[in-house]
Amino acid sequence: MTSSPAKHVLIVEDEDSIRQTLRYNLSQEGFVITEASTGTEALSAARRQRPDLILLDLMLPELSGLEVCRILRQEMTVPIIMLTAKGSELDKVVGLHVGADDYVTKPFSLNELLARVAAMLRRAEMTVKERVAGREIEELDNFRIDRGARTVHVDGDELHLAPKEFDLLSLLLLNAGKVQSRQVIIQRIWGSKFYGDHKTVDVHVRWLREKFERFDRLPFRITTVFGVGYRIDRLDQPAA
Ligand code: CA
Repeated sequence: MTSSPAKHVLIVEDEDSIRQTLRYNLSQEGFVITEASTGTEALSAARRQRPDLILLDLMLPELSGLEVCRILRQEMTVPIIMLTAKGSELDKVVGLHVGADDYVTKPFSLNELLARVAAMLRRAEMTVKERVAGREIEELDNFRIDRGARTVHVDGDELHLAPKEFDLLSLLLLNAGKVQSRQVIIQRIWGSKFYGDHKTVDVHVRWLREKFERFDRLPFRITTVFGVGYRIDRLDQPAA
């Protein structure tokens, strides 16, 4: 096994014997386990714990596995493997439709299930790596920007930026270490049809700085290049 932190699996199953078997075998493989035996418990556990993967039984008390899957899909991208009884074709089609990633039909072989879990986690990890490589996500120390979701987090808390503030920050970060003139910033963010004053850029930089002011520690600084524009200097790596 690798030295990466233990993966967290949420097991949702109302049949005690199956749930205990799953818990035992997945724990043996080094996974951290949370259990839920109803659909409602599953939703609250998923929201609270943010597991790396969910094993989700189809037939559950309160909310069915399909309903749980449909609701979670709107809230998070966690991989979901459905546990379906007797491999009914209808279940598979409906399950796909609500966004499950894979199926295992009962009775299942534990080896097969463990292999599917491992494959699914590998795939999820690759997806994140690809997104990081494409700079859709940038993580610098305690700072994280997700250009797909258009979110910024500092110390794990979301920082709410107006759309143009976000675009400005994103542009400066993509060009860290290089000065961006006010003219270039205007063109890239407001577009060539913008007739406003270049002072607009200064105002947005000021707003950005004000929003970052409350953090003691940031991995970069927005530097004013007098008479030209702005540059982000990263503080988490030696200057070029
Ligand atoms: Ca069941």
